[in-house]
Amino acid sequence: MVAFQEEAEIALARASGGCLFLEGEEPSMLTTEIQKSLNLQPESCQMTNRLYYTDSYCAEFKATVNECIRVDGRPAIVLEETFFYPTSGGQLHDTGLLGGQRVVDVRAEDGRIVHVLEDNMHALTPGQLVPGQIDWPRRFDHMQQHSAQHLLSYVFDTLYDFETVSVHFGAHESTLDLATAEISAAQLRMAEQSANQLVYDNLPITAYFVDESEIARVPLRRPPKVQGQIRIVEIEQRDYSACGGTHCRHTGELGLIRLTRQERSRGNVRITFLCGWRALQDSIQKHELISQVATIFSTDVESAPELVQRMLEQNKAFERQVSELHQQLMQFEARELLDQAVQMADLRVVTKVLHEQPPENVRRLATQLQEESGLIACLATVVSGKLTLLCARSADVDLHMGNLLRDALKQFGGGGGGRPDFAQGGGVEGAQANELMAYLLTKLKAQIAVK
Ligand SMILES: [Zn+2]
Repeated sequence: MVAFQEEAEIALARASGGCLFLEGEEPSMLTTEIQKSLNLQPESCQMTNRLYYTDSYCAEFKATVNECIRVDGRPAIVLEETFFYPTSGGQLHDTGLLGGQRVVDVRAEDGRIVHVLEDNMHALTPGQLVPGQIDWPRRFDHMQQHSAQHLLSYVFDTLYDFETVSVHFGAHESTLDLATAEISAAQLRMAEQSANQLVYDNLPITAYFVDESEIARVPLRRPPKVQGQIRIVEIEQRDYSACGGTHCRHTGELGLIRLTRQERSRGNVRITFLCGWRALQDSIQKHELISQVATIFSTDVESAPELVQRMLEQNKAFERQVSELHQQLMQFEARELLDQAVQMADLRVVTKVLHEQPPENVRRLATQLQEESGLIACLATVVSGKLTLLCARSADVDLHMGNLLRDALKQFGGGGGGRPDFAQGGGVEGAQANELMAYLLTKLKAQIAVK
């Protein structure tokens, strides 16, 4: 007998489209009723009867304790039979109460279903009959998402021949990966519409076991590479999947199905979907958000996108205007600085300390000044107390700005450098700006006098 572990189940499920294929599962894991009908005898009383296989809706039951063990330092219970679903086939485990204690995890281990409890076991002992209570809203949500996945996989397969290669059920949203390089927006909308139509058709969803020798008669969406008894989940006469998960009785119970996102993933397309309460909650949330946007723009929801678009375009036009005005301002500022230039031999020297001017603006100003002849400009800007220094000269001046700037900043504990005609640096406190400028002027005077 080969029993498989939770991880193997998930790996197998991933490889087989997210559903639990009952590969290698021993007959004793089936319910007593099915065992009888199949004329099978359990080989070991250790195996847990998985009652959820035949009834996904039973949320309260009583069962006998088989074992009291510890799992990762926590108390855990194995029952003779259980309706608690263990994490498997991509579907998340149930939570709830067992013997009045919180069940925080449910795992499938060696054919047993292990219920991990929150804290101490109190007086639970083997042989004891204990009440079990499953957190129904959580379970029903999982059933909705899982049934919706089958439905969507069927729809994508039928409409576009896109095979589902893997699925993931998350706590907030679920995904399915489709074997295709791309899906158009129109295809996505059509698939969503078709899936919701099948919801309104309220088709029965049933689960039953088929022996591998008979499996060829079942038109499975994906042929299983499995042996033994195979559990089939059928959306009436449409979709047949080998799956061990819990499902809704009718497609109508799925409520709304929404496809919320698509993205590329390892050569496939990953579709994110929401179903049931999740889809409703998402719809409410998005409506609130768009309403907020509309309120900000003092318009209605329908007009908001167009208005936002118009304002974006306006904003771009303003940015262009600001840029042009800034250019003009630079020309004025350059002229003003030239008027204040200090004459040193046949050169003019401009020094200026600006405040809270972004360095890129000052850089533009320096570039503007470079177009003059016989000019050296040393401009500093102090932004949030930090100084940036730029030294630039006209093409006809034979002095090295990189060396001048490096030497000056070094004297004040900063650093920087550049080309002979343009240099930039910083690392000096803004409070030292005037002192730095005075130092630069002295240095320049000395260098120009030598020439
Ligand atoms: Zn499934």
